Amino acid sequence: MSTTAGAVPSRSVRMMADSVGPMALVVLLVLRAQKVVAPAPVWQYVVALGGAVVAGRLVDRWQQCKPGSYGLHLRVLVHSASVTGVIYLTGWGPELGMAYAFAAFADLEQSGAATWRAALGWSLAGCAIGQTFVLVGWAPTFMSLAHAEAIGFLGAFVFSIVIRMAGTTGESKEAVEALLAHQALHDALTGLPNRQLLVDRLNHAIEMTGRRGGHAPVVMFLDLNRFKLVNDTFGHQTGDELLRQVAQRLDGVLRASDTLSRFGGDEFVILCEDVGDLETGAAIVDRIRGAFDRPFDLGGEQLNVSVSIGVATVDDGMSIEALLSEADAAMYFAKAHGGSGKVRFFDEVTRRAARHRVRIESDLAYALERDELVLHYQPIVEMCSRRIVGVEALLRWNHPERGMLSPGEFLEPAERTGLIVPIGQWVIAEACKTVARWNRDRAPDDHLQLSVNLSPRQLAERHFVEEVARLLAAEGVDPTEVRLSFELTESWMAVDATGEQRRLQALHDLGITLAVDDFGTGYSSLAYVKDLPIAVVKIDRSFVAPLGRDPRDLAIVRGIIDLAHNIDLYVVAEGVETEEQYQYLVALGCDYAQGFHLGRPQAPDALFTDTCSFESL
Ligand code: C2E
Ligand code: CA
Ligand code: CA
Repeated sequence: MSTTAGAVPSRSVRMMADSVGPMALVVLLVLRAQKVVAPAPVWQYVVALGGAVVAGRLVDRWQQCKPGSYGLHLRVLVHSASVTGVIYLTGWGPELGMAYAFAAFADLEQSGAATWRAALGWSLAGCAIGQTFVLVGWAPTFMSLAHAEAIGFLGAFVFSIVIRMAGTTGESKEAVEALLAHQALHDALTGLPNRQLLVDRLNHAIEMTGRRGGHAPVVMFLDLNRFKLVNDTFGHQTGDELLRQVAQRLDGVLRASDTLSRFGGDEFVILCEDVGDLETGAAIVDRIRGAFDRPFDLGGEQLNVSVSIGVATVDDGMSIEALLSEADAAMYFAKAHGGSGKVRFFDEVTRRAARHRVRIESDLAYALERDELVLHYQPIVEMCSRRIVGVEALLRWNHPERGMLSPGEFLEPAERTGLIVPIGQWVIAEACKTVARWNRDRAPDDHLQLSVNLSPRQLAERHFVEEVARLLAAEGVDPTEVRLSFELTESWMAVDATGEQRRLQALHDLGITLAVDDFGTGYSSLAYVKDLPIAVVKIDRSFVAPLGRDPRDLAIVRGIIDLAHNIDLYVVAEGVETEEQYQYLVALGCDYAQGFHLGRPQAPDALFTDTCSFESL
């Protein structure tokens, strides 16, 4: 792609070009009167110069043709023919050979440096014809034939070198410019158009919507499911490789007219301008989903990856932000409600869901300062004695209009907006304060242990550990006094990031215990335990629920407990809802249990007055 080629000449340049012909004519006529140029009849000068101007105008339209095309060749041919006609008419032909180079420069400037080949070829041809005319006497000359021949050769040699040099220098300059232009508009990792180029194309698509018939273009917002997990488990290089492969596969199933762009992170946006009808749109979506049917080969590791897709239709006069946020809202809905590989078209339902989400996010921003957040505590019981040995702090939002909300309704927006960081700090401080107060009334060997859930966003904070230490100091709580334990879901234990690993170690050094939450729902490997100071594994309730119903689950839970015990970890079973499940867990040697059967999460006051019933569980 040439950046100089096809530049539309400005009005002043145009006027200059138009005035060259008449000026040259005047000069030639004056020189003719002085007998400095050949005394050809005046009409011949008028025809040569006028013809050059008219013919030049006629071939102007081919200025933007591709190098090597007939149009461009014709244009260059006309230019060198004009030069030949004029310079050989004056009788000074071979001496004025550099005029070919000037004409070539103009062509290179207007049609791109690659034009130099055509310019050189036609200039040599013009020069050869002019020289032949001199030799056979059809063109006048002021020199002897031998001189004319020698100077003709010399001139051709010089202008050839000049044109060639101008061409190759121009080409390498254009290549650099093209590369820079490409880089500015493409994503370095995948080579796909970037956000800026997408916005350009979207602008164009929106503009065209009013003018075209058929079905409106659609925009698809794609987001890989659980990409963060891949990144954190296998490392960023593997994550990058996955993105590259996804880009390749998507590119393979889309049509040339579709724009596939990397929007950022693991998000891709596809613009399908030429949709035709609804079936075409559905077929494209099917092909995209099909691209994820096979697992991805990431350095020998076969990984199944799914995608959530949101689709929005481009409407006339719509803003780009509105369009993208509709597609994003539909994608978000697909991800939240559809499971893997699901697609959602933007409609009234997704619009309402998006509005709801925005409301939650903005309300949540004030929840902390308005004291709307509360903590409930669920007892954790020692299996053999049924004694309460600890509590897990569980966050609730006492929403002024919607009542008491569970984390499932606001945790995700809290994570996404980053509000989980200050909220999480509040949770730690508040829970430590409450449990320290309880422990003051209990015998030291009966002190409650406090479990607090951590979000990956919190752990990603560079100064998280210092912040925790500061909070504890401010509350006057020693972590060992409340036997503080942080729970992190399994997927985040397998973090590859050294920063996170260092912080986990530093938390351990502060006297905080670390527990793997929801074990069995992620990669279900305890391989990371050897590198991390983990002391507890919490078996997810999906394994506990079927106990007694399916012997296979019994085997799984037994396997997990044995594995954990072998590497000196304590095991907590979550979600124990029946006495039967409890008994199975006792038999399997589980250490602690938690669940509705043993105590629901409750407000701190309720838990206190209820202490007797806990003792008698
Ligand atoms: P989790 O850490 O696995 O917490 C246990 C969840 O299971 C709680 O849900 C609890 O109410 C519920 N549960 C306890 N026993 C039973 C049972 O016998 N049967 C059933 N069906 N459910 C039971 P909750 O309170 O809605 O919390 C959901 C999740 O939200 C928690 O799962 C935790 O991952 C997260 N979470 C809660 N509080 C916080 C917090 O302060 N910070 C962060 N980052 N996450 C929190
Ligand atoms: Ca937990
Ligand atoms: Ca859990």
